[in-house]
Amino acid sequence: MREYNIAVLKGDGIGPEIVEEAIRVLDRAGEKFGFRLRYHYALLGGCAIDETGVPLPQETVDACKAADSTLLGAVGGPKWDGVPGDRRPEKGLLGIRGALGLFANLRPAVIFPELREASPLRPEIIGSGLDILVVRELTGGIYFGERGRRTVEGAEAAYDTEQYTVPEIERIARVAFQMARKRQKRVCSVDKANVLESSRLWRSVVARIGEEEFPDVALSHMYVDNCAMQLVRNPGQFDVIVTSNIFGDILSDEASMISGSIGMLASASLGAGKAGLYEPIHGSAPDIAGTGRANPLATILSAAMMLRYSLEEPEAAAAIEAAVSQALKTARTADIWTEGTRQVSCKEMGALVCEAL
Ligand code: NAD
Repeated sequence: MREYNIAVLKGDGIGPEIVEEAIRVLDRAGEKFGFRLRYHYALLGGCAIDETGVPLPQETVDACKAADSTLLGAVGGPKWDGVPGDRRPEKGLLGIRGALGLFANLRPAVIFPELREASPLRPEIIGSGLDILVVRELTGGIYFGERGRRTVEGAEAAYDTEQYTVPEIERIARVAFQMARKRQKRVCSVDKANVLESSRLWRSVVARIGEEEFPDVALSHMYVDNCAMQLVRNPGQFDVIVTSNIFGDILSDEASMISGSIGMLASASLGAGKAGLYEPIHGSAPDIAGTGRANPLATILSAAMMLRYSLEEPEAAAAIEAAVSQALKTARTADIWTEGTRQVSCKEMGALVCEAL
């Protein structure tokens, strides 16, 4: 039987509740598709501060490095708001991403046909549903480039530098093309090559990698301003979007809001190997922690991404996504509830997805 080791970081707030449901679903998928998952629990965020004094203990880094992949709930909460900046729960999050060398952030923007009414877009724009994957470069570009203050013609000025090396562009391009091979085999590379030199390098490198290594994937290029417009005008044209850190930051938020509900949005961060960090994009929702009102679907869908992208279990991933769709037909957690459906708790939603599987 295929076996995988998964590091599990439940985190704070609703983290433990939603991760528990994701694990139930993963186990059910394992039974059905013939693999076994072994879980290695470790501390991250506020719970780690309480136990060890730091948000990211070394044991957690070691557990994640030793695992085939990592599943994360969410971290943070008002209890730790007074903690000094360098020890805050969110520092643990940045720390683990850095320690694992994660340079690619994957954010799917999916509209389940069942939740079409939650989208701010008109039904005729959404059509039969939407499935976009935004691949954002995570460790380079203007957020990490040279910056400073200086005086320009007697006036105070500030500057930030967008810089990408060829290897940085090559590796993020490869991630995007590989993802596209598991989907509809279309990549749209987004840049501002009409203005920025860094974008001109980006465009030429992505084109070369596509031509040399992924001739089976269709590649197009789009300026970022046009892409921002196309995402709300005709989002169905996109399969995989690959872009730089700053453009990806903005476009992935735009794309994810098309789906309308924060409790449904999964994400993954990948490094050089197969292992990744999978987590919902929402936070620890301290306002509803412990009430059973949390929506576990973003975490369940993150677990499905883990099966697809890190563990090579695409059938199980697709089955979980179909089971989520099935569960949504009759039942909703409070955040996505609508007239005519049954309102269920976090646990009940997990159970319904397992049942549908
Ligand atoms: P949040 O995402 O936790 O919550 C925003 C709103 O969405 C809240 O009303 C919450 O109840 C709701 N919500 C979020 N997830 C939900 C779910 N699964 N089901 C139902 N409702 C859900 O953002 P926030 O309130 O700004 O932050 C709360 C804490 O989380 C802070 O400490 C923040 O720093 C932290 N945070 C952590 C992460 C992370 O772990 N990746 C991300 C964002 C914020």
